[in-house]
Amino acid sequence: MLRTKVLVIGGGPAGSAAARFLAREGVETILVERNLSFFKPCGGGIPSTVFDELGIPKKAIRKEIKKVKITSPKGVILEIGLKGGSIAMVKRGEFDSILRDEAKNHGAQIIEAEFRHLEEAGRQIIAQVNINGKEERIRTDYLVAADGVNSRVRFALGLKPVASLYTISERIGDIDTDSCEFWFGASHAPRFYSWVFPEAESVSVGTGSFEAGALRGLLQRFYERRKLDTKHATRMYRIPLWKGEVYNKDNLLFVGDAAGHVMPLTYEGIYHAMKAGEFAARAITAGRPSDYKKLWKQRFYSRFLIMKKLCDYFLKDDNSVEKLVAIYRRHEIQDVTMRLWLEKSSGKGNLISFMNFFRRILG
Ligand SMILES: Cc1cc2nc3c(=O)[nH]c(=O)nc-3n(C[C@H](O)[C@H](O)[C@H](O)COP(=O)(O)OP(=O)(O)OC[C@H]3O[C@@H](n4cnc5c(N)ncnc54)[C@H](O)[C@@H]3O)c2cc1C
Repeated sequence: MLRTKVLVIGGGPAGSAAARFLAREGVETILVERNLSFFKPCGGGIPSTVFDELGIPKKAIRKEIKKVKITSPKGVILEIGLKGGSIAMVKRGEFDSILRDEAKNHGAQIIEAEFRHLEEAGRQIIAQVNINGKEERIRTDYLVAADGVNSRVRFALGLKPVASLYTISERIGDIDTDSCEFWFGASHAPRFYSWVFPEAESVSVGTGSFEAGALRGLLQRFYERRKLDTKHATRMYRIPLWKGEVYNKDNLLFVGDAAGHVMPLTYEGIYHAMKAGEFAARAITAGRPSDYKKLWKQRFYSRFLIMKKLCDYFLKDDNSVEKLVAIYRRHEIQDVTMRLWLEKSSGKGNLISFMNFFRRILG
């Protein structure tokens, strides 16, 4: 049996951020990732302004986009230039591997292995993992569940799966766009949006829905609207809906997609996964796992709540989306939203202006 202080399950952004923080603090850490070559279907867009805060090496940036283009259901187009930062596009797979290397360089042990089950989950935790076809057990004081939206750790503990909606996407090499495009319309993205995101070497195109069975038809309709040819292999993946109900169960802490930490409305998950990993690691280092929930709530609760309210209010049907796009024609709301998005660590000023603005509008 292997023995460690902290076992991190999953080597995506959340798990790597947790492992790096712990290892840097001198805490014995093993991270298990079931597939070190995994390439998650993900737009890979991250505000350029958070790389220093998160300690992400800038070599991970493959492209920078300075414009967001929003198209309403009726075809009203808004182009918003980003001031003071950009959307840095990373290539998942490569990005995840860079983050795991960071954790390894600080002393975390990275093992390609699949978490299978929990033999014990009390004061003492024993996890069963499969390494190269061989069953192995790992005894640990703390476990960080960073195993994504299909979290097997949640399953092992009998917790409900992460609430989610479904996405379908593909990579296209031959379209040209210099913006991150968000397309709204119930005919191709009910209560969500379809997207065209320039990636490192290609463009990610996709859409989302609460019904997995509807995805292919919706994507087809989006292609027709965006005038694209469908000729590529598609990938489906779930994206969490934030409920805010799972943080830790004693010494087991849930981070990133495994905890549903994706911002409602924008569905931005990488930054929040890495911050959750850091907060969980801080709480473990302090020997107070319940601090994790406090740290997360202090920093993110109000932001997630307002975005969830806006999402429920404005994405419910096409008329409501039209209202939202009309609101976004106003430069002051564009500015405050972009500041809120780009300047994540800068106190509550932007958040308060954003909330006041929408309070006035919503009455
Ligand atoms: C189509 C799509 C587009 C997106 N675009 C963006 C975007 O542009 N910007 C953004 O910020 N967010 C985006 N997101 C959200 C973002 O991808 C996630 O929020 C983010 O990856 C969460 O990180 P994580 O580490 O929690 O989980 P993941 O990145 O899912 O990592 C989980 C890791 O755990 C491993 N794992 C799973 N099970 C086991 C097991 N049993 N044993 C061992 N390892 C296991 C997996 O192999 C994986 O490496 C997008 C999501 C989707 C679906």
